[in-house]
Amino acid sequence: MDIEVFKFGGASVNSAQAVQNMASIVKHYHDAGRKMVIVVSAMGKTTNALEQLVPNIKQEDEQEIIYKNLVDYHLQIVRHLFPNPTDGIYDKLRVLFDELEQCRKVSSGEYNYDYDQVVSFGELISTTIISAYLEKCGVGNQWVDVRKIIVTDGMNRCAQVDWKRTMENRETLVQMLDGGQSIVTQGFIAASGEEVTTTLGREGSDYSAAVLSYMLDVKRMTIWKDVPGFLNADPKYFSNTVKIEEMPYDEAIEQAYYGASVIHPKTIKPLQNKQIPLYIKSFVNPKADGSVVGPFPVIKPEVPLYIFKEDQTLMSIMPKDFSFIAEENLQRIFSILSQVGVSVNLMQNTALSFSICIDSNKILIDKLIALLSVDFKVRYNRNMELLTVRHYTQEVIDSIVAGRQVFLEQRSRDTAQMVVEN
Ligand code: ASP
Ligand code: MG
Repeated sequence: MDIEVFKFGGASVNSAQAVQNMASIVKHYHDAGRKMVIVVSAMGKTTNALEQLVPNIKQEDEQEIIYKNLVDYHLQIVRHLFPNPTDGIYDKLRVLFDELEQCRKVSSGEYNYDYDQVVSFGELISTTIISAYLEKCGVGNQWVDVRKIIVTDGMNRCAQVDWKRTMENRETLVQMLDGGQSIVTQGFIAASGEEVTTTLGREGSDYSAAVLSYMLDVKRMTIWKDVPGFLNADPKYFSNTVKIEEMPYDEAIEQAYYGASVIHPKTIKPLQNKQIPLYIKSFVNPKADGSVVGPFPVIKPEVPLYIFKEDQTLMSIMPKDFSFIAEENLQRIFSILSQVGVSVNLMQNTALSFSICIDSNKILIDKLIALLSVDFKVRYNRNMELLTVRHYTQEVIDSIVAGRQVFLEQRSRDTAQMVVEN
């Protein structure tokens, strides 16, 4: 279909000014005769706040304050955008806030279920505001509840898309678009086949937009971000970042896998399967070119890509008996890792020890050590950093290691990874 799928993240709608800017981008395309599916995240840091409102996560008096702040935050934005206090938006929001207030007070006893019911209000609220504001700006649109379109399994907090059942809703979506205006809908949230609200995992709105792009067979998808495009490094660590103009699909998947946080890791696959290019553009500078992920043979320009992960723990696991690290031991170690829910960012073994680099999550690591200690000696270093460089040269590696002690190192033809002290 020849329509635009746009994704706007939390930072692009975190204030009244931001919403106005976002609306002016959308209006530009609208005035040029384009029809859009506009996927929006929760405003600013709303999802983080909502996580604190899941039943029993905090004392009621603390939650009361967080809830009030959240309502105030949204109302402050809305008052700016809709100065008329009798505007219909205020009633719509009151209904949503009341529902949230109910929802955060009833616990099902199951944390993951409760989480999705509460946290989904972030996107329901943001899209309600944005749909009304776009309408006010002359961008006629329909607010669509994405839970009627994207169907998942019942795994709350990290639901898997049920592609077959989702595709059955394709016609509905196409008819909506054929019949009329652009669509404004939620990222991140979905519903199971039993119509229970689910979520796709934190930062999942990119993925939602990719699912909709796949469904509609569009010619391109665009993510509007606060960076000029896909950079070769996080500007937090590097002053001289280079913007990538063209990025092959596989390269973008590798990048996301190693922890680059530009796009949600699951986003690329559905796009790649239909060869839909993904544009990453700046909402600060919407006329600029941005980056495109697509069916390219190589990255352009050809520069090294850097991904740094802080807060890492390097753990060495050694059998207590006389055995070497071999299949049975590894099987035992991996089954404990998956039981605890720890994902391994890097691994290496010698005859006597198996080393892993994992995120420093104290609760999980304590659990892990308790279980491993039955059969293994465990040593670990906290406060490590994992440096990944794609398309490296020795010079590049020397410059980022910069005299720090390397605790573990692994190189393939394309990728070098080093665990160093932070
Ligand atoms: N609002 C959700 C989050 O903050 C989803 C997203 O932003 O993509 O994780
Ligand atoms: Mg976000």
